[in-house]
Amino acid sequence: MFNYQAAPQALAEKVILVTGAGDGIGKAAALCYARHGATVILLGKTTAKLTAVYDEIVAAGWPEPAIVPLDLKGATARHYQDMAATIKAEFGKLDGVLHNAGMLGVLSPFEHLDLPTWQDILQVNVTAAMLMSQALVPVLKLAPQASIVFTSSGVGRQGRAYWGGYAVSKFATEGLMQVMAAEYEGTSLRVNAINPGATRTKMRSKAYPGEDQLSLPTAEQIMPLYLYLMSDDSKAVNGQSLDAQQK
Ligand code: NDP
Repeated sequence: MFNYQAAPQALAEKVILVTGAGDGIGKAAALCYARHGATVILLGKTTAKLTAVYDEIVAAGWPEPAIVPLDLKGATARHYQDMAATIKAEFGKLDGVLHNAGMLGVLSPFEHLDLPTWQDILQVNVTAAMLMSQALVPVLKLAPQASIVFTSSGVGRQGRAYWGGYAVSKFATEGLMQVMAAEYEGTSLRVNAINPGATRTKMRSKAYPGEDQLSLPTAEQIMPLYLYLMSDDSKAVNGQSLDAQQK
């Protein structure tokens, strides 16, 4: 795993938005950030899952989170602008965004790629993160140090047969991260990406149904890099695509 040990309250006073916070890696990140003192804004598609994470955070006595139920498939620039205005009014700033929500679509041969699925994947995995970032940058600039973290994948660096729109969406994510990192270089905003590596979640078991899930690290185990990129210890890091399971 990426080697990083955070101070217990490393994220105290920080406000961090996590997309896809109701399940898998996003849920683990939201809980981990809250445990380290952050106020987390839980964004996701299924309200009941977000409420369960909210309840867990409150029961643990960590800072009270906020919930934003939103389906990234249908969300428009207007939704993100309204969300940014609410965050500014409620918290006065935003210190971090973890773009974690993602969809796999259907793995299939190139000749069978289906346009509606392709468009949904690019919408959820790339366009939503671009529009959301655009709306949130002014609020991120109000924080002393701010961090945007995108979620990539091994297939965002090297294409693989049958991974179609998902692989292309992750290449695009790497590109968007690099473009933004270059534009905000030298400012208080840094932009990086994480490749989680094979992790025990529902998405992974959908992609590899025959695999022994217990052989994979859990989402909780890959958190050191997620913490590092949100803490001020990484304030000089910009434009990097890092591996959560780097040895
Ligand atoms: P999961 O499928 O377990 O979780 C995905 C999360 O994204 C869920 O909370 C889901 O919400 C949310 N989400 C999906 N579609 C939408 C949408 N339209 N609007 C809002 N939220 C949505 O996946 P993982 O935790 O495994 O994946 C997290 C990220 O890590 C993804 O970007 C994935 O591509 C990436 N990744 C994962 C790897 C792995 O091995 N697990 C490897 C490489 C990359 P809901 O539950 O409500 O549907």
